[in-house]
Amino acid sequence: MESFIEEVRGRLSTASRVTVLTGAGISADSGIPTFRGPEGLWKNFRAEDLATPEAFERDPKLVWEWYNWRRELIAAKEPNPAHRALVKIESGMEARQGRFRLLTQNVDGLHGRAGSRNVIELHGNIWKVRCTGCGTVTEDRRVPIPIPPHCASCGKMLRPHIVWFGESLDPRDMDRAVEALENCDVMLVIGTSGVVQPAATFASTARGAGAFVVEINPDASSSAAQIALRGRAAEIVPQLV
Ligand code: NAD
Ligand code: ZN
Repeated sequence: MESFIEEVRGRLSTASRVTVLTGAGISADSGIPTFRGPEGLWKNFRAEDLATPEAFERDPKLVWEWYNWRRELIAAKEPNPAHRALVKIESGMEARQGRFRLLTQNVDGLHGRAGSRNVIELHGNIWKVRCTGCGTVTEDRRVPIPIPPHCASCGKMLRPHIVWFGESLDPRDMDRAVEALENCDVMLVIGTSGVVQPAATFASTARGAGAFVVEINPDASSSAAQIALRGRAAEIVPQLV
């Protein structure tokens, strides 16, 4: 393990372009449950049955109640050493004119709070709402949000500004992500199960374009990685700086 960590540290220190993909696992060390972990359940509902456009159409109040529960849970949490280590890697890259891109599937906003700058939030942000009528996106940090919330300009119902299961990513985010994957020397894949598309294919895209892919996860996930560092993000990522 120690020699693998040394190798990754060495590669990061000479890379000119680094791309990182993070998933719920990096925030698990901040105390935010992953969807598939034992604490991912809410009132016996699975996240996959609530984070969908069909669920919102059927019962918007139920979906908003679930988001209020998640907002309350996330509001109390702080970035952990893994989030902070990524900020250090980014600053180090910038100091030597390198390029750093952080793609995250997380909606908790913890990368931004830690100080990361080049973040693409592929699945949106739990602190933003979008009008189902006029499409306006606004920040709304109320916990709880009064249910159901309505748009200040057109009066239609608001929904979380989140990419739900079955919905497509913003094409501009997708383009930026693919560009970052096809043009990196090193890719870190941290705390993602690789079952949610399209992020699941990101590691092989980078590997196919010649990147050295490193996975950090306590369990096996991405088969595209040359090196798998088995362990918790908050323990492993700081050692890569
Ligand atoms: P996932 O729940 O499917 O998988 C989490 C992965 O993290 C697993 O592979 C697990 O082995 C790993 N993991 C668990 N603890 C870890 C740790 N301490 N360090 C490193 N890895 C650890 O999550 P996903 O693949 O990110 O995708 C599920 C979807 O859930 C995403 O769309 C995301 O938007 C959403 N989600 C977001 C949050 C958040 O914003 N914090 C939380 C839960 C789910
Ligand atoms: Zn509106």
